[in-house]
Amino acid sequence: MRDFTHDHSALALNTATLGHNLPGHGAGWAPERIIDECAARGLAGIVFWRREIGTRAVGIGERVRAAGMQVVGLCRTPYLVGAEAGTLDEVKASIDTAAALGAPVLTVVTGGTEPGTKGVAESQKILADRVAAVAGHAAGCGVNLALEPLNPMFGGNRTVLFTVADSLRVCDMVGAANVGVAVDVYHAWWDTGLADSCAAAGPRILGYHLCDWLADTCDMLLDRGMMGDGVADLRAIRAAVERAGFTGPCEVEIFSARNWWQRDPREVLDVMVERFRSLC
Ligand code: ZN
Repeated sequence: MRDFTHDHSALALNTATLGHNLPGHGAGWAPERIIDECAARGLAGIVFWRREIGTRAVGIGERVRAAGMQVVGLCRTPYLVGAEAGTLDEVKASIDTAAALGAPVLTVVTGGTEPGTKGVAESQKILADRVAAVAGHAAGCGVNLALEPLNPMFGGNRTVLFTVADSLRVCDMVGAANVGVAVDVYHAWWDTGLADSCAAAGPRILGYHLCDWLADTCDMLLDRGMMGDGVADLRAIRAAVERAGFTGPCEVEIFSARNWWQRDPREVLDVMVERFRSLC
């Protein structure tokens, strides 16, 4: 397991930590400001959200690399299943944005149960078909697709994948080398089978997302904790991910409307670095 106590060169920022995943939240820094502040702190890279990239993907990607960092990933595809699913052309357009940005990983949040079906088994099969339909396009663009399981409370309208094991099952159905899984502390901390699932995933782990689960969480979507403020066993989860072979950046992704999005982003970044080195 990597030792980060004196080293945060593997730390990356997901800009959701500054409120950039939703309109009307956070301090609203431009991508250039984010890049400068992350580079000044010696971060490995940045994960952006499509809404802040718009049509500027090429230029923003170049600027990240010129600052000595990498674009670690892009969030995210439109939903692939469920009542709010996008079209395959819309999914391909999000893949094109990731490619233009130079992002090696595009996160997939699946969307909820497919209309006309119940449960998740049928929806997982439909999901696999739709991922398979775009996986070749992504491979041609050099983009990997990370199927991110979400905490089961997001079942219904946001996801049909609840565990890393669920994601791996769909990966197996798709059977494409550029389709894997993202492991997010917020969604996976409770899963007592996580270590076994990570071992089964091996090199298919494409991303590791850091935050914490607050013991008294008051908003299922927008009350994620900073690392160390909650009950997730961060070192055990990272050990499981790294035992599987993961050596990539650790991406901090904190949706926090009441707390961290209310603060000066410079403070958020400074605390993030300190907590990463001392607790993650
Ligand atoms: Zn995540």
